[in-house]
Amino acid sequence: MIESLIKAQKKYFMNGHTRDIDKRIAQLKKLRTFIQVNEEAILNALREDLGKPHFEGYATEVGYVLESISHFVKHLKGWAKDEKVKAPIHQIPATSYIRYEPYGVVAVIAPFNYPFQLLIEPMIGAIAAGNTVIVKPSEYAEKTALIIQKLVKECFQTEYVAVVTGGKEMTSELIHAPLDYIFFTGSVPVGKIVMKAAAERLTPITLELGGKSPTIVHKDANVKVAAKRIAWGKFINTGQTCIAPDYVYVHESIRSDFLNELALAIRQFYGHDPLVSEDYGKIINERHYDRLINLLDPDKVVIGGQADRETLYIAPTVMADVGWEDAVMQDEIFGPILPVLTYTNLNDILNLMAEKPKPLALYLFSESDVIHTHVMEKVQFGGGCINDTLTHIANPNMPFGGVGGSGMGHYHGYDSFLTFSHKKAIHKKSTRIEHGLVFPPYRHKLQLIKKILK
Ligand code: NAD
Repeated sequence: MIESLIKAQKKYFMNGHTRDIDKRIAQLKKLRTFIQVNEEAILNALREDLGKPHFEGYATEVGYVLESISHFVKHLKGWAKDEKVKAPIHQIPATSYIRYEPYGVVAVIAPFNYPFQLLIEPMIGAIAAGNTVIVKPSEYAEKTALIIQKLVKECFQTEYVAVVTGGKEMTSELIHAPLDYIFFTGSVPVGKIVMKAAAERLTPITLELGGKSPTIVHKDANVKVAAKRIAWGKFINTGQTCIAPDYVYVHESIRSDFLNELALAIRQFYGHDPLVSEDYGKIINERHYDRLINLLDPDKVVIGGQADRETLYIAPTVMADVGWEDAVMQDEIFGPILPVLTYTNLNDILNLMAEKPKPLALYLFSESDVIHTHVMEKVQFGGGCINDTLTHIANPNMPFGGVGGSGMGHYHGYDSFLTFSHKKAIHKKSTRIEHGLVFPPYRHKLQLIKKILK
């Protein structure tokens, strides 16, 4: 089934139907209209799948992709132009240019946590760059997957954009098929499976993965602001955010201040009983609920800890005096549990972080520019914030992506366009002049070429 779909899309692509820039823009506008008209239904689906409050659904998914479409509509013509570049002196008379060529048939595979945005955002980039697309929504966010099916069917013909649904069998079939590009967002273990499959055909890939993203609260931090921004970044979407602060390293001298402020912030955000708060979501399914409950050490829980399997709720939970030997520190948490560790020497923890897989994000809270520069230089990570959490993802002028263990490749805005385009280098020569420098017999030409190439 996948192979025949790819064949049909390839034919559509080869016939040039995706090449015209105005047509691409028209398709993006059609997509925008569908999203605007169906906004309520999308927000409701997100609420059903993840208990996502409409505000979060709009800010991080629906509104997010609408803004992205507007950005592409505004800039695409400029980005897609052939780019003239200088030709070296020994090559003239000639002109050189770079053509941004679409790859062909692209697969976009999405996870469950931002099930709409993380599928639509790369799809926008793939369409803008002139590809055909096969999207695979997460099987766990069922209601959102249904809306995505409707969206794709109403906005596009199957030869242009198609949706396939199912679990890992479907993903497996897809990643082994003769695609021209695979864009995968998901966990590190599945990322490795995708990369292995892609290697068989040398299919180019982007991997948007996860990992344990650290947050550092230094002794000179504005503790109140830090606690609020960390609580927000951790507990939005019930902690199921790839760039959520996974754990916090707080300077020993401000540990209790920080924990007090954290408790205050959580109460301000979600009230005395977060389980009944309309602004707080739920865990995606029982499997993840059980996994998270197993990470809790009741002796170390200082805030929250309440949970209800029936409704898949786990309260915003903070664990203190945590060490690297604790269960909660073994893997990415991906839920509303925040371990707090303490430190006295900043360089000690920076060295420790440098030994671990490069995280997707890092957040630093400090009032000192010297500390900012030092930390940014010392630790490698995908992207991050100084004195905030998450918000680096929301700037369409910045690339988003991991490095090393947290993934490879970038997207968002112009970087999405680049990701889904092959830079085809064309050197166009005149036939009027033939200096013959590179042709044999070489005789004394070695001296001449040495003068030019140095
Ligand atoms: P996941 O890796 O379990 O699933 C992602 C996709 O892979 C799904 O569509 C699923 O059908 C497929 N899949 C699952 N197991 C498979 C297998 N064995 N073989 C082939 N395909 C398989 O991820 P998830 O649980 O949906 O999402 C959570 C993970 O995604 C976290 O690790 C998180 O950090 C990461 N994530 C990363 C980003 C980012 O932008 N870097 C964004 C969101 C989530």
